[in-house]
Amino acid sequence: MTEAAQDQHAVPEHDVEPRQLRAALSPSRAGDFMQCPLLYRFRVVDRIPEEPSAAAARGTLVHAVLERIFDAPPAERTIEAATELLGPQWQRMLEREPVLAELLGDDPEERATWFAEATALLRRWFTLEDPTRLEPAERELYVEAEIDGLTLRGYVDRLDEAPGQLLRVVDYKTGRSPSELFEAKALFQMKFYALVLWRSRGVLPRMLQLVYLGNGELVRYEPDESDLLATERKVKALWAAIERAATTGDWRPRRSRLCDWCDHQSRCPEFGGTPPPLPEHAVQLALDPVRAGGTSPADGDDN
Ligand code: SF4
Repeated sequence: MTEAAQDQHAVPEHDVEPRQLRAALSPSRAGDFMQCPLLYRFRVVDRIPEEPSAAAARGTLVHAVLERIFDAPPAERTIEAATELLGPQWQRMLEREPVLAELLGDDPEERATWFAEATALLRRWFTLEDPTRLEPAERELYVEAEIDGLTLRGYVDRLDEAPGQLLRVVDYKTGRSPSELFEAKALFQMKFYALVLWRSRGVLPRMLQLVYLGNGELVRYEPDESDLLATERKVKALWAAIERAATTGDWRPRRSRLCDWCDHQSRCPEFGGTPPPLPEHAVQLALDPVRAGGTSPADGDDN
């Protein structure tokens, strides 16, 4: 899902109850730690709020429309029908999160531009895929699998299934196709989902497909077993590193070009800032399955 908002993809915390998870990790939080352990701390341990952005909200809205358009019979999945869903879906988002209204401001021109950009993203999707010929097996599918006591979980935007259990995992990105900088991150997220599906269903997804609506590009990848075994080793090593950071309190910053998109520069030593003192029970908070296994709009990727 949209890294940035994506988190429309937020894993509702109540979804994990009543099952008591011992440890859980989502691809978003795993990605945070890989990018920068201090970023993981700010998001998971301190839970410092991040500025919502109009672009992230637009990504969330477009994701919602791309999910809902498949409610219509195939012949009615038109650009016009998708565009008509924008208003009602936006209202639904506002009902859930009234604060989103402030993102668009009062200027009618700005609001019109924001909706026009959402419409443009939807139009681009129709140049990449033909929803009248698609019948997703699942949309916004919650997936989880347990690996050596660690629960991996997240939401898959769309799962297509062809006869013979041929699975295609589809993720929409409302940004542009990634530079090398982001490509590894996007692909890791997709392999994470593929691993979870493989471990939970016993079927190795045939295709991972990223749909970049920002510039109209499809990125496809065919994972194999060795790929997913490597991903599994990587995820286990990541969790061990998170546990180490939690117990030592050593959440060191890792500066990279991705810092340009980080909301926490003012409190980051790499930028002359000072992190707040660690909260009480920081170790438990860092490893809390609801926090470490959650996704949020803070994903910072692009929805
Ligand atoms: S600014 Fe960069 S180094 Fe600092 S917390 Fe954010 S991602 Fe990490």
